[in-house]
Amino acid sequence: MQNLKIYNTLTRQKEEFKSITPNHVGMYVCGPTVYNNVHLGNVRTFMTFDVLYRYLTHIGYKVRYVRNITDVGHLVGDGDEGEDKIGKMAKLEKLEPMEIVQRYTNDFHTVLEQFNFLPPSIEPTATGHLIEQIEAVKTLIEKGLAYESNGSVYFDINKYNEGGHEYGKLSGRILEDLLNETRELDGQAEKRNPLDFAIWKKASPEHIMQWQSPWGMGFPGWHLECTCMSTKYLGAQFDIHGGGMDLKFPHHECEIAQGVGITGKEPVKYWMHSNMLTVNGQKMSKSLGNSFLPAELFAGSHALLEQAYSPMTVRFFMLQSQYRSTLDFSNDALKAAQKGFRRLTNGLRIAKTLTFEPAEVATDEKKKQDIEKSIVAFYDAMNDDLNTAVAIAQLFNLLKYVNMIYMNQLQPAAIGEETFNELKDKFVLFIEGILGLKEEKAENSDAVLNGMLNLYREYKAAQQYDKVDEIRSYFKANGMSIKDMKHRIDWAWEE
Ligand SMILES: [Zn+2]
Repeated sequence: MQNLKIYNTLTRQKEEFKSITPNHVGMYVCGPTVYNNVHLGNVRTFMTFDVLYRYLTHIGYKVRYVRNITDVGHLVGDGDEGEDKIGKMAKLEKLEPMEIVQRYTNDFHTVLEQFNFLPPSIEPTATGHLIEQIEAVKTLIEKGLAYESNGSVYFDINKYNEGGHEYGKLSGRILEDLLNETRELDGQAEKRNPLDFAIWKKASPEHIMQWQSPWGMGFPGWHLECTCMSTKYLGAQFDIHGGGMDLKFPHHECEIAQGVGITGKEPVKYWMHSNMLTVNGQKMSKSLGNSFLPAELFAGSHALLEQAYSPMTVRFFMLQSQYRSTLDFSNDALKAAQKGFRRLTNGLRIAKTLTFEPAEVATDEKKKQDIEKSIVAFYDAMNDDLNTAVAIAQLFNLLKYVNMIYMNQLQPAAIGEETFNELKDKFVLFIEGILGLKEEKAENSDAVLNGMLNLYREYKAAQQYDKVDEIRSYFKANGMSIKDMKHRIDWAWEE
């Protein structure tokens, strides 16, 4: 096993990763609330944990990856009052809530497939775990950590803290500040302490999604599902819990309180949170009109986008930043990423065709060592809290040697068979296996490119060199060098 270090939000430091059970990792990631199309911020979160899942597996762990679907209980405004997000959409669209759930679960899966995410080991739903949630509420009441009030059940923060626990420790929130923030909110009359949160909510007659419980008709509180589903499939204590930064409070804070309350154990060893997206330096949000959907990005149909960007370009773009730093979307940055990604996939295609040829040449120690150093540095970067930004920089150094070999500027024999094989195998593995990038099939903009390549071939065969030059400048204008184009052409030739 590699010496992986990850930043633990709970302890606020990078820690050496040691799984609770040797060779096994339990990882839970909060999935989407399926009431609308998945947005890019969510995609970034799931991408972070897709790469972590791939990497942990690569370094030898057997990973059980649980990512849920929230299909009930998540209320508008993320608090204890207001309509259910799914129920609201169902009313608006005059559909069954489960039609909404199905539609957006399908959309979610389609988008994740476009981005080449591996499916989780288990994808449980909140409505599929109502019995577990009702049991959890009963346990918390029995333990004196929750109380019924007017048909709803609330988690008792004072009791929890009296027991020597610290609500707010994950997000670093101070209780007094929280109290000041919540004083103004409605619907606090049922609570003993304004900070208490609902684990079961009484449903009004017009509320569509409701179930029978010992406390009357109602539905589970949003935070409870994750506690129930994570511990059901991963045990009372598991290794990694992930999600977007915006889930730290109240969602994950409440999960800790519930988990500790039910089992008496700290549920999660490492908490990991991915950072937010910005657009041209501004926070991405619907109200600012600068939030776009993955589909808009792929089609280039948003007013802020100058062109379409393929799923793999976006994936590459996102991975160029480490997950804990903010990531800024701009046309310039995306265009640069597109260029970089094309160079990388050209290299990928070439690397797969390279073969070792023995030859009587002197060993080029400097290049040989640089390649070996770069491979180690890739692992070092990944081990350093999944620093994909630095890892990708190492990939480009390896790409340089792949291209040199391809262009006959470096003989494979000069770096020795072992290093040559390492270069070839690791280069492909890093790109495809660990970063989850793949060459995209010719379609959309690639279809145009292919057409241009065929024309290029015809003009060249007909010796119409002015036309050939025209096409060359077309490629140049699209950020592709002559060298890139040559690789593309070689590829098109083979097809
Ligand atoms: Zn959750």
